[in-house]
Amino acid sequence: MKIQFLPTTRKEITALGWQQADIILVTADAYVDHPSFGAALIGRWLTHHGFKVAILAQPDWHSADDFRAMGPPRLFWAVTSGCIDSRLNMYASMGSKRREDAYSPAGKLGLRPDRPLIVYAERARQACKGVPIVLGGLEASLRRLVHYDYITDKLQRSVLADAKADLLVHGMGESAILEIARRLDAGAPVNDIHDIPGTAYRVIKGATVPDDAVQLPSREELQADNTKFMDFQLAYQDQSSPAGRPVAQDQGPGQIVVNPPAAPLSQQDLDTLYALPFTRMWHPKYDTLGGVPALKPVQFSITTHRGCFGGCSFCAIYFHQGKQIASRSPESIIDELDSIAQHPQFRGTVEDIGGPTANMYGMACAAAPTCKRMSCLFPSPCAKLPSHDAVIAMLNRVLQWRNAQKKKPHIFVASGIRHDLALQSKDYIRLLAKHFVGGHLKIAPEHICPHVLDMMQKPHNDTFEAFEAEFEKASKAAGKQQYLVPYFISAHPGSSPQEAEKLTEYLVKRNWRPRQVQDFVPVPLALATAMYVSGRSPKKKAIYIPKGRGEKRLQMALLQYYDKRNFKTISQYLSPRGKHKLLAQIRKLQLT
Ligand code: SF4
Repeated sequence: MKIQFLPTTRKEITALGWQQADIILVTADAYVDHPSFGAALIGRWLTHHGFKVAILAQPDWHSADDFRAMGPPRLFWAVTSGCIDSRLNMYASMGSKRREDAYSPAGKLGLRPDRPLIVYAERARQACKGVPIVLGGLEASLRRLVHYDYITDKLQRSVLADAKADLLVHGMGESAILEIARRLDAGAPVNDIHDIPGTAYRVIKGATVPDDAVQLPSREELQADNTKFMDFQLAYQDQSSPAGRPVAQDQGPGQIVVNPPAAPLSQQDLDTLYALPFTRMWHPKYDTLGGVPALKPVQFSITTHRGCFGGCSFCAIYFHQGKQIASRSPESIIDELDSIAQHPQFRGTVEDIGGPTANMYGMACAAAPTCKRMSCLFPSPCAKLPSHDAVIAMLNRVLQWRNAQKKKPHIFVASGIRHDLALQSKDYIRLLAKHFVGGHLKIAPEHICPHVLDMMQKPHNDTFEAFEAEFEKASKAAGKQQYLVPYFISAHPGSSPQEAEKLTEYLVKRNWRPRQVQDFVPVPLALATAMYVSGRSPKKKAIYIPKGRGEKRLQMALLQYYDKRNFKTISQYLSPRGKHKLLAQIRKLQLT
């Protein structure tokens, strides 16, 4: 039976002829039935495999009433805090509260609690005792072990321990959650389910740490000596591929065991997943509430693959999606374009055809499952890197499809690309510039200073400038005037104010006014967060760590030198250093 939206009320469950749901998926986001929204993706996947799934989106957490309203789930509660980490959703880098929640109707604030996984798990327990609770989604995944929390400025226990849940699914969760559902359905007690790749469990009620588990430094040890945080990070990183060993960590009290990640979905499974009947709409109950803003930028975008082998140290995708690239078939992508073209709300633009890094489509390396390198590109591109042939062939199929349409839609690549990788194929750059860029291409040099770029695990600036020249040439050859939109990060570990100043000099010299400046946020499990906490580089050498609001503001102001409001901050830093010429140039540019 085709279900338009998964049921969200007791009435809808009854209308479907169900006695009860097998699984109730609780999410801190509004319910949007789109493959970019994890709750919808997992809900549809489990439904496709024969389970009855209901969605409890943004329940009132002040009591357990909303958790009782649909009756207890037969198998388990699946609890997620939504598409992004709830800290990032609620707070900006310097700890101030955000003014909008794009994942809530009309961007309204206050519809999710602080740390939703912990709060929802407690309410689910109150609503019906004895029903297993499984955590999943990005926040659960990245907070699977002891982690740094930038709002409390403390090392927190695994969210699995704090939420007292039964299991935690980490990484892309389809295969793990399906296996959990099947085992519980077959009558296995949840306390016996300890061997599924991509899951973590608490060592209680008879559970033991596996003999082959790697023991990680405990929370107590990490609290007593923060320099050990880098040892911890590297030890876990070593085991974080599907071929790794389980790891165990003392959380005080008790231990957490984290199994290695699940292998990525096969192409056939990915094709099946993205062919499920997503409506690409928010639930109708939000129509009168102003809709859900997060849907708009992705409503007609297509995910071509999963995984990223870039290994940028400030990004935690390595620990969530993994380094192995899993790609959909071109046929599956064309089928999705067909369904988008028939969508009643489609207005002729496919916003994005990409993935975590657009030009990694089809680049599956046979050695990836056992390879221990975090990045295939840093410190230099690996000789075994696959070519751009698959992504070029896929984009050409997309062009053929577009040219066969009566009204030719615009199709863009809006996901980021790795420019050092792109430089390996001028054909790719030409194709991209000619057909898939709408005037501006986002690109992430992130900095210009070699030492900072090394800490970020990014290519040096000469590589960026080489890409810039190629892109310009390709755009000119295509008869298009197009520009790069560079992204930069301020206050990254390793970046001193002097290095921020060098970047400012470069920006001023080029009269670049970057709008896309991100103040470094130490997100859980990212390598750069381990640098931030430990004060050490991955080679365990002491490095400069920008900390405190004053310094973070200064580095941000230096990169946004063109904003008049920043002049006082910049001047207070540059004047005593005798940088009057640079200051005068900044003043002049601010006035133009
Ligand atoms: S062998 Fe090279 S290309 Fe393959 S996964 Fe390892 S680093 Fe990447």
